[in-house]
Amino acid sequence: MNKLILTKKRQAMLESVNVYNLNDLMAYYPMRYEVNRPMKYSELIKDQRVCIIGRLVSFARTSRFGRMAVNNFQVLLDDEIIKVAIYNRPWLRFDMDHPILIVGKYIGNNKIQATNAIQNYSEDRHLGIVPIYHLSADMSQNDIRNIMLKNQELMIEEAIDIIPSSFLLRHQLCTKKEAITGIHFPKDHSVVKRALAYLKYEEFLKFYTVLALNKQRIINHLKEKKEYDLNKVEAFIDRLKFKLTDDQSRALNDILNDLRSDKLMYRLLCGDVGSGKTIVAAIALYANSLAGYQGVMMVPTEILAKQHYHSFKELFNDEISIEVLYSSISNIKKKEIVENLASGKIDILIGTHALFQETLNYHNLGLIITDEQHRFGVRQRQELKTKGKYSDFLSMSATPIPRTLASAIYGDIDVSTIVSMPKERKGCSSYLLNQNSITTILKDLINRLANHEQIYVVASSIEDNELKTKSVLSLYEHLKQLFKPYAVNFIHGKMSTEEKDRVMNDFIDNKIQVLVSTTVIEVGVNVKNATTMVVYDAERFGLSQLHQLRGRIQRGNLKGYFYMLTNSKDPQVLSRLKVIEGSNDGFKIAYEDLKLRGPGDMLGIRQSGLPGLVLGNLFDDQKIIEAAKKDANEIVLNHELVENKEFIEYLSDNYLQQHID
Ligand code: ADP
Ligand code: MG
Repeated sequence: MNKLILTKKRQAMLESVNVYNLNDLMAYYPMRYEVNRPMKYSELIKDQRVCIIGRLVSFARTSRFGRMAVNNFQVLLDDEIIKVAIYNRPWLRFDMDHPILIVGKYIGNNKIQATNAIQNYSEDRHLGIVPIYHLSADMSQNDIRNIMLKNQELMIEEAIDIIPSSFLLRHQLCTKKEAITGIHFPKDHSVVKRALAYLKYEEFLKFYTVLALNKQRIINHLKEKKEYDLNKVEAFIDRLKFKLTDDQSRALNDILNDLRSDKLMYRLLCGDVGSGKTIVAAIALYANSLAGYQGVMMVPTEILAKQHYHSFKELFNDEISIEVLYSSISNIKKKEIVENLASGKIDILIGTHALFQETLNYHNLGLIITDEQHRFGVRQRQELKTKGKYSDFLSMSATPIPRTLASAIYGDIDVSTIVSMPKERKGCSSYLLNQNSITTILKDLINRLANHEQIYVVASSIEDNELKTKSVLSLYEHLKQLFKPYAVNFIHGKMSTEEKDRVMNDFIDNKIQVLVSTTVIEVGVNVKNATTMVVYDAERFGLSQLHQLRGRIQRGNLKGYFYMLTNSKDPQVLSRLKVIEGSNDGFKIAYEDLKLRGPGDMLGIRQSGLPGLVLGNLFDDQKIIEAAKKDANEIVLNHELVENKEFIEYLSDNYLQQHID
């Protein structure tokens, strides 16, 4: 692969947005385009985006308000003096009497609030249709634009069609070279449109071909039917402290039927945070073990592994032998577990995902469950087959994916959904507040502490750093004083397992009333008394992540209170956070997130071993999806045709490194 032409500084910039090579750069598509056409004075409209070329008549002057720097200067446009303000560019220097290209908002009275002001502009680069890229904090549009231009030739050279030409022809698509030119260096909108048509189709075709290949390898395998005593399962359900909701019962029935059938179970259990997926999984594991099989449950964190372990122990009452495995467990214990697993002494093993990357030998593995992780990676698929036998597979996800979408993504997977929450839930109120106004809620917080309720405080970093966000450690120092005499403590990922355990257990036992933490408490953790959460620098979290966090305080029969604090004044950021304030509907939130971040992230596609969808949108591109799906099946079916074969080989090299059989 050709190397990128980059200075050290620019290389670091690109790395901060996960661009490491030419292919990455090619696929670093603009998020939108702006049209820069110089306007006349008479064309300026109040509150609208404007682009002008004016002659500098008064020097730029930098003034400061706190952390903000403002440059004020004046230009002449059609004999009118225009006052321009531009924020946070203290280094700007302009030559008098020379033209300046200014892009920004016209705020009336001959004033422009500029987002960009360039004196050495060029027609080619700055006028006409201009791509706007996603940026990291220390990068500007000019930087990325320069990088693109410097590497333009290399990219075009490297842009080779991998789509079989018969399909290019069928859909009357342009070439990859044209597509890459069109998306990064467009002359007009029609070029962008053609480029998008090509690139989206390419993404979906790769995506569905990999799915079709995977499916061919793993789905529709037969297995031994699992015979278990249904009376025992029912008695177990009757003994529970609560009655299952209708949705839980329905999901459980789906799963129990799958276990009994001779077709491999490949099922996704979707339910919003707090909807009660764990008990459904526990009952499935119980039935599986009654049928004489071992079961495993993979979870993303150690805290969660232990929590499930303890609640399962209580549930199963020594009737079934359960163990828990995670990386920091002692070697002696680990060895013991590995042996007992192989000999069949362990019925159910709970452990972190990381562990299942090692190969464990099971005596008789019948059911694999993954919790809180919407991953269907190659690796998980690999787990399906152990020692020549196939195990049933259930994945539980808090991202409520509609059935049609799930099958669009995962192929022939079955989906059960838990929509209704357990009746006792009181819901949760969410508030978006200015970070400085924490005092306005202090009284409420203390009242709740007095009422024996507990509080989570979430920060985006462990220690203070250059980002100026609140850290776990500094908040801990501060809140310790503020909440006296209540006990405040903290937890974060860099602490040792023993420390984390101790703190978490103290919190569960209400020996700690206020727990300051990073998102380590994000997933699954269940503390019924914890009703309140305060998230600092909320804008630093994804919407789905915030919703997950909020799920931690809707666990019992007390009402939850969720406070998002932010210093941001950016209307876009605020309206994003308002989605959380206004909705407790995980699907709606996931959808908003998807619109903002692209579908790959939301559905965990990025880590799934599937080709990413950067441009393609699983909600909105139905037509392309249908075509790509059909074509993908055709490619897999006619895999001996040279062009199809090459395409499959390309995908195998890039996405299917780990073969299943
Ligand atoms: P999630 O779906 O987010 O994994 P959990 O399975 O952790 O949710 O369940 C959240 C809480 O709700 C747990 O404390 C669990 O015991 C409780 N719960 C589950 N099902 C019911 C039910 N049918 N009625 C009342 N409480 C329930
Ligand atoms: Mg859970």
